[in-house]
Amino acid sequence: MPLHVVRHPVAEDALAVLRDQGTAGAEFRRVARRLSLLLVAEATHDLEGREETVETPLEPAPVRRLARRVVAVPVLRSGLGMLDAFLELVPRTEVGYLGLERDEATAVARSYYEKVPAGLADADVFLLDPMLATGGSAASAASRLRTRGARAVRLVCIVAAPEGVAHLEKAAPDVEVYTAALDRALDERKYIRPGLGDFGDRLNGA
Ligand code: URA
Repeated sequence: MPLHVVRHPVAEDALAVLRDQGTAGAEFRRVARRLSLLLVAEATHDLEGREETVETPLEPAPVRRLARRVVAVPVLRSGLGMLDAFLELVPRTEVGYLGLERDEATAVARSYYEKVPAGLADADVFLLDPMLATGGSAASAASRLRTRGARAVRLVCIVAAPEGVAHLEKAAPDVEVYTAALDRALDERKYIRPGLGDFGDRLNGA
């Protein structure tokens, strides 16, 4: 399973701000969006293009436009913190939603909502889920998208744990992962260390 750790000084700087426990509320949201822009730019770098011609004010110019449908699927609720960045970079993205909730006792993902555009077979599909911890929800999300026809799925996350990467490698080896960091390990509560805490809580000011 290809794992891309996006190393960019601006991404590292944004991640530093997100990790800092003193970053809260609107600033956390703003910086999560800024970092997501860089991650999404990297995750979309090889999307297929189609040659076209446009008229500049001076003469026709050969251009390339995105050739295929693009579908972004944030995993509720923390994936919503990455959606705005995705839509800014690829405005005609179709959006689906997967609601997966982690049982705090077992750390197993439970599905509570699913609304995804039809016909994923001819689309490039991006899962947005900032914390790849156990890999349970990412694997479950990827398998749900695959049953709806998705072929190549890319997961865009902000922090990944080695355990989550290993789990996904087994359960969904065709999923390409783009992350800003591969951290040390999970703790006994299945939080990523050093991580940044509960992304959803921090994003939503809880
Ligand atoms: N989800 C989070 O928000 N943080 C973690 O560290 C693990 C899962």
